[in-house]
Amino acid sequence: MRIFSGIQPTGAKHLGNYIGAIRNYVALQEKGDAFFCIVDLHSITSDYDPDDLRESTLSLAALLFAAGLDPERSTVFAQSHVPAHPEAAWLLGSVTSFGELRRMTQFKDKREQQDFVSAGLFTYPVLQAADILLYQTDLVPIGEDQRQHLELSRNVAERFNSRFGETFSLPDAMIPEVGGRIMDLQEPDRKMSTTGGTAQGTVGVLDPPETIRKKISRAVTDTAGIVRHDPERQPGVSNLLAILAECTGEQPGAYPNYGALKRDVTEAVDTLLAPIRKRHAELADDPTYVREILAEGKTRVRPAALATVRRARHAIGLLSL
Ligand code: ATP
Ligand code: MG
Repeated sequence: MRIFSGIQPTGAKHLGNYIGAIRNYVALQEKGDAFFCIVDLHSITSDYDPDDLRESTLSLAALLFAAGLDPERSTVFAQSHVPAHPEAAWLLGSVTSFGELRRMTQFKDKREQQDFVSAGLFTYPVLQAADILLYQTDLVPIGEDQRQHLELSRNVAERFNSRFGETFSLPDAMIPEVGGRIMDLQEPDRKMSTTGGTAQGTVGVLDPPETIRKKISRAVTDTAGIVRHDPERQPGVSNLLAILAECTGEQPGAYPNYGALKRDVTEAVDTLLAPIRKRHAELADDPTYVREILAEGKTRVRPAALATVRRARHAIGLLSL
């Protein structure tokens, strides 16, 4: 079974990324042939700093290893190191309609957040489809927000296959039921986000314990005064309960008040993240090691990507010499 997922390097990765996606990468590396891609070409579609991008590509790789990806089992690589990704995206762009891209809710959300809306931001889901389809992927561990993009990838693959002949496998999404959508602690009606969330409402995987405590203790709740899971009427409290359940792996018990709940959430989050923070600090001291693993990742994935892109090129009618 081929497992594939992509994650953006820009910005500090947060608790939502960890619970919704990264944790499942780690679980799935035991179950199949797992490729994880640091999608730096996606990061350049929104505002970013070039030097930061280089740094954060290495730092994210270190974070993935700190979180438990084992370079012996999983292949971790940077998207821009495999030119077949943008090439396949161009081919797939010809079987993706303008109308379906315009319906993507991520594009609608992200365009609101910036003055300059790049063409790359609009065609982002096509590159994402290429990322996934190039590796004949069976399963894609992602958060709830990526459901629509995964559906698009499947539709595009089906359309390509039916017009030009069997070329791509159809991938399935793996989305956690509870942890697939962790909300911003300050604005619990929107997801915790690397680039679009509030600073105080986003718990970084690498945040120091004191920062975590402050952010959780200031999390927005409501005036009902009752701790219960009711995402419609009590989105903040329900989000804290979801985080607690995901961190401990147990159903939360009863709480007399919000303060008591927040104390337990703080402890549970810190217990979950502390070992990752520690291993990341160790790895960050050794950037050469991380670079070597990324170089090896590139070498490992290139033949698979090239094989698919060659098939796609031929199927679509391009001349080879
Ligand atoms: P941005 O908001 O800028 O797109 P992001 O936080 O979504 O950044 P990505 O690198 O795009 O980060 O996503 C990495 C993975 O984390 C994806 O599988 C995505 O679905 C998942 N994910 C992102 N936010 C959440 C969240 N709030 N809860 C659960 N999973 C999430
Ligand atoms: Mg995202």
